[in-house]
Amino acid sequence: MTQATEVLFPTSAEEAIAQFGDGGDVTVLGGGTIVMPELTYGRLAPSKVVSLARAGLDTLEADGTSVTIGAALPIARLAELADDVTALAQCALNVADYEIRRQGTVGGNVCAGAGHDAPRGDLQGPLLALEAQARSVGSAGEATEPLEEFLAHRDGRLLLDLTFEKPAASAFAAIDYPHTHEYTVLAVTGVRTAGGETRLAATGVAGYGTRLRAAEAAGDPQQAGAAAVGDVRLGDDALASTWYREQTLPVLVRRVLAELEEAA
Ligand SMILES: Cc1cc2nc3c(=O)[nH]c(=O)nc-3n(C[C@H](O)[C@H](O)[C@H](O)COP(=O)(O)OP(=O)(O)OC[C@H]3O[C@@H](n4cnc5c(N)ncnc54)[C@H](O)[C@@H]3O)c2cc1C
Repeated sequence: MTQATEVLFPTSAEEAIAQFGDGGDVTVLGGGTIVMPELTYGRLAPSKVVSLARAGLDTLEADGTSVTIGAALPIARLAELADDVTALAQCALNVADYEIRRQGTVGGNVCAGAGHDAPRGDLQGPLLALEAQARSVGSAGEATEPLEEFLAHRDGRLLLDLTFEKPAASAFAAIDYPHTHEYTVLAVTGVRTAGGETRLAATGVAGYGTRLRAAEAAGDPQQAGAAAVGDVRLGDDALASTWYREQTLPVLVRRVLAELEEAA
């Protein structure tokens, strides 16, 4: 006999936090583009689902220097950041098609984890390069930490929002094929901070998105491209092989660095 699932619609962040509790046997529903098929086909059978649709977490605040994105903001709304954070807006525009971007949320994308057949979580790339701080709650209480650390232990946590400083420049380059239902094969984001630091991150790699620290430390774009391959763990999936990703990652790194150079 299948167990009944309680579906909750909190109407504030406080209510969502209370209903999420310690995160045990709770599934968070952002836009549901991943969760709904999982529930429908019985691959997921939690006793409680907490939907963020009415929890007031669909906020986008951009002041003079910083940006805060609520976890339930529809991905399509990141287009509003096209002038300030070009790479994040471009990456968002590259996610799936308009229906998915309008339904899917930033939190759902960031927390998606690796897909079975294709990479997911494209927004992790720009947000890692921007060194976004993730605010979340769970059994250990509320925490604000670098996104990289949040991703390493995100199970049992409810992501509330992401905050980062606006960059001086940013660039995004991706490989996707028209016949893959718009999934991204591999992508690289580059950020130049106001202080002149260059940060790089990739998605389409095995597991979560990854900072390209050896590439960042390399002396020139050619060396950075070669170093990037050592920064990541690559994998085979329905879209591409490890070999293909190894060949194309350096090209994307060089492209992004050239764009950042032009923007300087
Ligand atoms: C045709 C198609 C094409 C797609 N193309 C792409 C693509 O190009 N790039 C890409 O990255 N993805 C793609 N996806 C995957 C997916 O649709 C997106 O990643 C989407 O952004 C997921 O967001 P969501 O809000 O719908 O997630 P949901 O389905 O609501 O949730 C996804 C996961 O995140 C968890 N979650 C949601 N919100 C939170 C939160 N606030 N805190 C903690 N956990 C949370 C859920 O419990 C679940 O585990 C595609 C999907 C489809 C169907």
